[in-house]
Amino acid sequence: MTNESSAPVFFSRALYQSIVDHAHSVHPEECCGLVASDQTGTPVRVIPMTNILHSPVRYQMDPVEQFSVGKSLRLEGMSLWGIYHSHPISEPYPSVVDINLAYYPDVFYLLTSPVTTPPSLRIFQIKDSKVTEFPLILKEVD
Ligand SMILES: [Zn+2]
Repeated sequence: MTNESSAPVFFSRALYQSIVDHAHSVHPEECCGLVASDQTGTPVRVIPMTNILHSPVRYQMDPVEQFSVGKSLRLEGMSLWGIYHSHPISEPYPSVVDINLAYYPDVFYLLTSPVTTPPSLRIFQIKDSKVTEFPLILKEVD
């Protein structure tokens, strides 16, 4: 696992807040969800999903929910841009399990944790078990 210097990723503060609020609302369970982008590749929507494991250390999205969300995003011309989840009691860095379950090398994996104030949000890509972190820049407006 190494970090390369990577281009910064821009993310709206409103979307950041949606993820942080979701993590807070299900604490101490892990939250999980999707981030969708518009046709220009800009992340524009956070879609909270149900963690069917209801666990503080693991997450798994509801496959039925995932299917229906994927279908409606396609109908709207949107794409899967990112997958987020929270680490309620540990730092927001992909765990060994997260790395082993990272099936999408081209999407961003976002991790938040309430252990810091303000809650941190970090962003990664995971390819062939290699984690690359990207600098995240929060924007005030979409
Ligand atoms: Zn994790």
